[in-house]
Amino acid sequence: MQLFNPDAEQAPLIADTPEPKKIPLLEREPQCGDIRTWSVSSIQVFEDCPYRIYLSKVKKCPEPPAEALERGSRIHELLENFVMGHTEEDTLGEVKYFIDEAKRFREGYAEGKVIVEDDWAYNTQWEPTGWVADDTWGRMKLDIMVFEDETSAEINDWKTGKKYPMKAGFQGMVYALGAFARYPKLEFIKSRFLYVDKGDTFEKTYTRGRMDSLKERINLRALALTTETHFPPKPAKWSCRFCPHRETGNCEFAEN
Ligand code: SF4
Repeated sequence: MQLFNPDAEQAPLIADTPEPKKIPLLEREPQCGDIRTWSVSSIQVFEDCPYRIYLSKVKKCPEPPAEALERGSRIHELLENFVMGHTEEDTLGEVKYFIDEAKRFREGYAEGKVIVEDDWAYNTQWEPTGWVADDTWGRMKLDIMVFEDETSAEINDWKTGKKYPMKAGFQGMVYALGAFARYPKLEFIKSRFLYVDKGDTFEKTYTRGRMDSLKERINLRALALTTETHFPPKPAKWSCRFCPHRETGNCEFAEN
């Protein structure tokens, strides 16, 4: 019985034949799958529902503009402009809980201690590379980085919407690894998530010495995505509710 064959380009998954034996993740070529690059959000989408990432990245189905994403971009932009000194405090109405933080970042930026909105990309060895280069594997977008001194820094990420500690924990770990790879003298990183709607925060700290074991965990999750060639649907009320492919009707497996 054929269970799933949403697209002729994708091999069918057969229910009554044993699944082909998979090569262990760490023995695979890191970019041998249909999706060669990863980001924190693409890994999380893939883990929630492989078919969703297939529709977005392989089949490239158009996605309707999401209100939440548009709001997030607008808030990032207004904070970026304020921290860089292009606008004044009266533009910060939507981030009222973090006006003091925004001012601290602005002062740090004026003193040359703060980086705002940077694009970081890495190859499979975690060496910095171009955003779109032949060897680009992982990508991350930095919101604010504050250097306290040569060995210590703080990475801040603005968040709209609800707090999801598991997701933030993974992102914090990935960004810390990215920062250690980029700045070899750093020994300590505090990762902070600033939830603008509630004025809440989520923080974790990382030392360079701890990163080897964390790197292995991150690599396994990134390899799972970038070596995959089969993307079965995983319908679930929660993930289908926020999936753009349910709205467009591109997914025939959506759970209502
Ligand atoms: S609607 Fe549900 S099953 Fe379909 S792609 Fe989205 S998350 Fe997956």
